[in-house]
Amino acid sequence: MDQTKEQNDDYGYNLFPERKKSKYQKGSIGESLFTFSHKCQIMLHVAMETNPYAKVLLGALKNSGCAVYKDRHFSCEDCDGTVSGGFDATTSQIVLCQNNIHQQAHMNRVVTHELIHAFDHCRAHVDWFKNFKHLACSEIRAASLSGDCSFSNELARFNFGLKKHHQKCVRDRATRSILAVRKISKEEAVKTVDEVFDSCYNDHEPFGRIPHSKKDARFAYRDFENRDRYYANL
Ligand SMILES: [Zn+2]
Repeated sequence: MDQTKEQNDDYGYNLFPERKKSKYQKGSIGESLFTFSHKCQIMLHVAMETNPYAKVLLGALKNSGCAVYKDRHFSCEDCDGTVSGGFDATTSQIVLCQNNIHQQAHMNRVVTHELIHAFDHCRAHVDWFKNFKHLACSEIRAASLSGDCSFSNELARFNFGLKKHHQKCVRDRATRSILAVRKISKEEAVKTVDEVFDSCYNDHEPFGRIPHSKKDARFAYRDFENRDRYYANL
């Protein structure tokens, strides 16, 4: 597999049309009041302050020397298609698609998903653009750890058994994420996901487990805080 071919790949930027405009060219305050943007900002704030998944990741990012700031590292924008969010590695910014995120639970998952990419970006030297295995690995982790695949668990339990369903869902979502932002064939995307699946699916950092529910995530956050305290006492 040739992992270096580019063929005019725009790396998914077509999905985020506002990324092409000059940076920080935002509407006036008056314009943003009572708009999608305003609602997006409020839901982002709620996610960062109250969602245990997001809190684990924000804490881990800070500890790794990559503190995330709401104004600097998040951007509410209108996006094309049905994408909900993205991580722009060139600016270390998370894009939240204000026209496609309407509920707090959805916002929580998108923020968590993109923070996992930010965490991978911070801790490892990820080559997002040329190395499809790196991208695949982070998409597997993001799908698995963000709760993207825990959503339909109740139903799935009857159909497949929990674990099998979760793995299949993670594979499918990771493959779709890659196909959305890189010009490669479906076969190539599936193969890349396959190649790195086991090691990346089993890497649960910084959660220490796959959080299947908010309760799990709260436990992970408690462990995380205790781990912090332990280090602080050394
Ligand atoms: Zn992703």
